[in-house]
Amino acid sequence: MAAYETRHETDMRILIVEDERKTGDYLKQGLGEAGFVTDLARDGIDGVHRALAEDYDLVLLDVMLPGRDGWQVLRELRQAGRSMPVLFLTARDQVADRVKGLELGADDYLVKPFAFSELLARVRTLLRRGQAREPDRLHAADLELDLLRRRVVRAGRRIDLTAKEFALLELLLRRRGEVLPRSLIASQVWDMNFDSDTNVIDVAVRRLRAKIDDGFEHRLIRTVRGMGYVLEAPDASP
Ligand code: CA
Repeated sequence: MAAYETRHETDMRILIVEDERKTGDYLKQGLGEAGFVTDLARDGIDGVHRALAEDYDLVLLDVMLPGRDGWQVLRELRQAGRSMPVLFLTARDQVADRVKGLELGADDYLVKPFAFSELLARVRTLLRRGQAREPDRLHAADLELDLLRRRVVRAGRRIDLTAKEFALLELLLRRRGEVLPRSLIASQVWDMNFDSDTNVIDVAVRRLRAKIDDGFEHRLIRTVRGMGYVLEAPDASP
């Protein structure tokens, strides 16, 4: 199973995009005092620029902004593949717009004026939810599988896999420590019912092993006779 990294709030980075000087300063100061690392952008263009240049855990996004408005900022972030939670700050007369924001992929919104305690509670909820998101990398010992880049590296060495081998390794990593019967592998990776006459799975596992295990001291994939295959790593991370 993939281990989620637990992080402290002091490591959490929040980008505030807010053009109203007083509100921006107030948010930056308040969140800073609450232990977050914050950056402040005062218009939409700078907001997009910063959000794409750095790794933020959350964006606080005002709707009415010079340069690009909050909707455009959000759209650009999502189009660029950024999935960090976004909390919209909207004025009371933009209530109808809230729906639009949520459709565009905002995670929550807060109507101005708001109590700081309320903002802090929403921020913490979103950050917790963000942490529980699907990781984009799976690990076992010195093997790393990058789900976004579709790349596998072991001990710093890049390993080329076919699409099926990648899917097979991903399944073994996700269910690490569990003995997976051939029938389960067949349905999950080949989308087919297992036919005991076919050796397609054994052949694929053998090829995968040759690529990721040969030449390494610790073999990760093990055959459990009469049952199936299991991926086990010598490190004991949960
Ligand atoms: Ca504004």
